[in-house]
Amino acid sequence: MEVERTKKNSIEYEKILREMQELQSTFLDNMSHELRTPITVILGYAGILCDEIKDPELKEMAEIVLKSSNRLTETLNLLLDQSDIQSENLDVEFEKCNMAEKLKNLVNIFQPVANDKNLDITFTNNKEDIFCKLDNKMFEKVMDNIVSNAIKYTNSGHIGIKLDSYIKNDKVFARIEITDTGIGIADEKQGMIFEAFRQVSEGMNRLYQGTGLGLSVTKKFIELLNGEISVKSRLNEGTKFTILLPQEGKLFFS
Ligand code: ADP
Repeated sequence: MEVERTKKNSIEYEKILREMQELQSTFLDNMSHELRTPITVILGYAGILCDEIKDPELKEMAEIVLKSSNRLTETLNLLLDQSDIQSENLDVEFEKCNMAEKLKNLVNIFQPVANDKNLDITFTNNKEDIFCKLDNKMFEKVMDNIVSNAIKYTNSGHIGIKLDSYIKNDKVFARIEITDTGIGIADEKQGMIFEAFRQVSEGMNRLYQGTGLGLSVTKKFIELLNGEISVKSRLNEGTKFTILLPQEGKLFFS
């Protein structure tokens, strides 16, 4: 009798939980789409104002509007990604991709952002022909999250992105290492950074802005790409994220 009741309660509980998850996901989706439309308009006009305004003080204001709208868009995109992950509403479209080419382009995009903070950013690779089958959009978001973090959490020094091949359990992977000389992450906190909404600085003064969503979305995307991600870090010295993705084609080292 008691066993029957417990079983019934647990089925009811699971049903309610599922309904709540669906409701939360629909709500997030609707909210994000409702917010995206006005933000796109603000971004468009702020861009025009930045180009057109000559008065330095007014120009600075327009630039702040543009920067803030960009940040809002990034947050919104992360919320949408998180909501898609929760509702398992993600299509992965694999296509062959030249990793060195892709990463070089990425470093070019981040160069001005790093330069703004007087940081060096470099790309190194030991061979050109490393190919992976990837969903380009997902991989770009992954790299965007990790390199943005490397820049955000580094106040002086260098960001390095390195590509090579790596064998693990008889399988060949493209290995991407993103290294920074930033604030680092204490040993005991390294386990939690891949969980949604978790930040090392939570509860303390918020020195660094963010949602705590980037790395949980990143980890999920890497898993969907059949890869893995890990972190090594030393407090006040720097951090290294390593991504392994199954390599395509020629599998020997040159
Ligand atoms: P956030 O939006 O807070 O940056 P993330 O999910 O991207 O959230 O990262 C989670 C936490 O991991 C961050 O709040 C930060 O404490 C820590 N972290 C991530 N990348 C780095 C890094 N390169 N250096 C130091 N700490 C980092």
